[in-house]
Parts: sequence; C-alpha cells; structure tokens
Amino acid sequence: MGEKFVFMKHRTVCYHCGHEADQVIKAVSPKAEVVCSNCSAARVFIPKYEEVAERGHFEPPVSCYDIWQLRTEAPCKNCGVTGPHEVVIGCNNFSTRCNNCGYTHFYKFDMEYIGQCPIE
Ligand SMILES: [Zn+2]
Ligand SMILES: [Zn+2]
Repeated sequence: MGEKFVFMKHRTVCYHCGHEADQVIKAVSPKAEVVCSNCSAARVFIPKYEEVAERGHFEPPVSCYDIWQLRTEAPCKNCGVTGPHEVVIGCNNFSTRCNNCGYTHFYKFDMEYIGQCPIE
C-alpha cells in the first residue's frame, strides 16, 4: 500500500493489556487501525464516508471508553495540502478531518485481533 496518510502514536493505557503503551495509529483510504505496541491488540476500522463536513459532524457518540482527540500532520487527498488533521478515535468510530478544507474520512469499527499489523 503506497498511500501515506495518517501514521502516529498516542501513549495511553491500553484497553486490552492495561499497560500504558504507545498505541500505533495508521490510516489510509480503505482502512484504519490502532495497534497496541505492548500487546499487539489491534482494532480495525473500515471506511463509511469520505466527504467535506463541518467540524463535529462526525464526532463519535459517548462510548465505552475514552475518546481520543488527536492532531497530526497528514496529506489531504481532497485539497492536496499536507497540514494539520484532527483525528478522533472512539470505541466504534475513527475519523480524520483536514483543517484546511474540512475533508473528513469517517471509519466505523470492523473487528479486533491480536497479531501483526497488515498496513506496512
Ligand atoms: Zn495492549
Ligand atoms: Zn484538505
């Protein structure tokens, strides 16, 4: 997979192993994943929408554990600018939003597994 979009880490307590560890966050158009660097517990999200949206339109609902409100630099495939994106990850949802044009990738939870991350 050659596309580079979101690749970042967020250090927090893992829902699975209970240790504070880097959670490796990767997203490309067809898929998004969060993988614990300690126990390899992975959550996979699949795309549901991709469109220009108002901020907050795709905020996940209050869910079973903390919602991560993150920020990272990423290339936007809509406006072509590499700049700040908001990344919001909840129990059932994963969304990214370009701060420049508002282009939003919204993914929903698909599955979880323990193992190696298939996104290189
Ligand atoms: Zn873990
Ligand atoms: Zn954009």
